Amino acid sequence: MTIINKIIDGKMYARKLLEEIYPLSKGFLDNFNRKPSLTVIQVGDNPASRIYVKNKILTAKKNGIESKEILLASDVSEDELIHHISILNKNENVDGILVQLPLPKHISEKKIINIIDSSKDVDGFHPINLGKLFMGDSKFIPCTPLGCLYILKHEIGDIKGKNAVIVGRSNIVGKPMASLLLSSDCSVTITHSRTKNIQEHTRKADILIVAVGIPEMIDEKFIKPGAIVIDVGINRLETKTRDNISNKGVLVGDVKFEKVLKIAKKITPVPGGVGPMTIACLMHNTIKAAYINKKIDFVNVLEGIL
Ligand code: NDP
Repeated sequence: MTIINKIIDGKMYARKLLEEIYPLSKGFLDNFNRKPSLTVIQVGDNPASRIYVKNKILTAKKNGIESKEILLASDVSEDELIHHISILNKNENVDGILVQLPLPKHISEKKIINIIDSSKDVDGFHPINLGKLFMGDSKFIPCTPLGCLYILKHEIGDIKGKNAVIVGRSNIVGKPMASLLLSSDCSVTITHSRTKNIQEHTRKADILIVAVGIPEMIDEKFIKPGAIVIDVGINRLETKTRDNISNKGVLVGDVKFEKVLKIAKKITPVPGGVGPMTIACLMHNTIKAAYINKKIDFVNVLEGIL
């Protein structure tokens, strides 16, 4: 297999999913005389969050979804943020609500996630949605793990019986990813910062998912030859030009791409791997929320994936 064939094209998969869901977005407009709608709240002006929010709003607009952004000052009180969410919860014309994380330290993320109406929780982080996912009866699945599963099912087909190892156990990536892989009949191992000798686990992985947030932590020594490697990490590195001008725009994953590419069967790049799939899955969840809001059945475009 040539090197180029080993690189998983996340942008292509994102386009494919968006094409699959567009007829549902169009059908909603035809039936209800309005588009499915998404409101994104951002608190403060974290530059990385600004880029993510802008991409979400733009992708929504391009795919027949009404999108609005509420930008709040970084010193907004927790009560005021809750007030904004309560208004959106009650607004029948708002289908999906997303609060961009991370939030400033004085605001409890846990509390905010709990306040969002679980039927509008398109991020899938509300305890009801995570609980449903863990019971195998999912409603909204967190977008990044869902995107990873979509890639895996298209790349491998049947993943039954595969050894899947996840590095990272966050509520938004590692844990829901484990649940999805378990439901797909993989044997799943989760590793984290307290795991002794992570390589001992990762070297047995047919499927390796890395979501840590440490630039290029996973090198070729962690990889079983022929593994499928999904790099969730997005790390913005500061580099200097020859004239000593700093450039904060270089993105790398949690995996040392060039080294791992040589021994893995397939690998997702950063950027252009999991990131675009996360946004496409958010669009999927928003359209699904619109159908749920109107109490009509949502055609499962992910049949064969879930
Ligand atoms: P968190 O910080 O919430 O979780 C990181 C996890 O990595 C924790 O479980 C932590 O373990 C584990 N960890 C930290 N250090 C080590 C180590 N040395 N060895 C093994 N495990 C370690 O991060 P997220 O899950 O939110 O995000 C992870 C990465 O994915 C980030 O780079 C983030 O930017 C990116 N991301 C990308 C998305 C996309 O769309 N592509 C979407 C979401 C996130 P412990 O629990 O023990 O502390």
